Amino acid sequence: MKFVLLGTGTLVPDAERGPAGFLVEQGEHHILVDGGSGTLQRLARYGVDARRLDAGVYSHWHLDHCGDLAPLLFAMRVGIGGVRREHYPIWGGQGFGEFLGKLEAAFPGWIRSDNFGAVVSELSLQGPDHALLPGGIRLDTRPARHSAGALHLRFTSPSGATVVFSGDTGPSPALAELAAGVDLLVTECAAAEPDPWNSHLWPEAVAEIVSLARPKRVLLTHFYPGLEEAHALEVVGRCGIPVARAWDGQVVELG
Ligand SMILES: [Zn+2]
Ligand SMILES: [Zn+2]
Repeated sequence: MKFVLLGTGTLVPDAERGPAGFLVEQGEHHILVDGGSGTLQRLARYGVDARRLDAGVYSHWHLDHCGDLAPLLFAMRVGIGGVRREHYPIWGGQGFGEFLGKLEAAFPGWIRSDNFGAVVSELSLQGPDHALLPGGIRLDTRPARHSAGALHLRFTSPSGATVVFSGDTGPSPALAELAAGVDLLVTECAAAEPDPWNSHLWPEAVAEIVSLARPKRVLLTHFYPGLEEAHALEVVGRCGIPVARAWDGQVVELG
């Protein structure tokens, strides 16, 4: 299994980093994880035609995580070079189906037809949930401390390799539990200071989760302006676990 970091930025326009977007690659199977604006181009740069994705998984439906969903379905439905025949399966938190329904109403006929559309499977926002994804990938989820149907996501390959993506979240015991001992933890570190709304993490909050979960490796993502990279790496690095800031185009081989 490979975890490809397509977008490691935020909604703030940035020359180096795009909004959140990731790819789980298992053999011939490709599962998109989130997808803010620019994700389809980054997929193409990596060599994957977005119209042939096997599935999508969304941590939540804020725009910096799903801005390319309507363009993706539009490309699958109408794209010159072959209209997709099979439906596109999506997993998201409870309420994702209603969200998609509003997108479909906004673009009538363009992102759904009788022969093609996204088919949503919803995951619990009350407690643990799981699903089996294409390629034999198991998805385990926990509710995150955020909004817009937010989930923590863990992907397990058939050989047992594991990666957790925090999604957007405030301090969350559920994230520490889900990430216990995983091969890779990709976690947001959006805030420079403790977030008064508890809907994002700051370096000390990430360090607490990392010290509890003890993953083998940590990548930080989703830095907002004001958070200094060196400070975040120093604080989280005190846990004694390899930590780095993620970059767009990074590929992690997980075996
Ligand atoms: Zn969010
Ligand atoms: Zn976000």
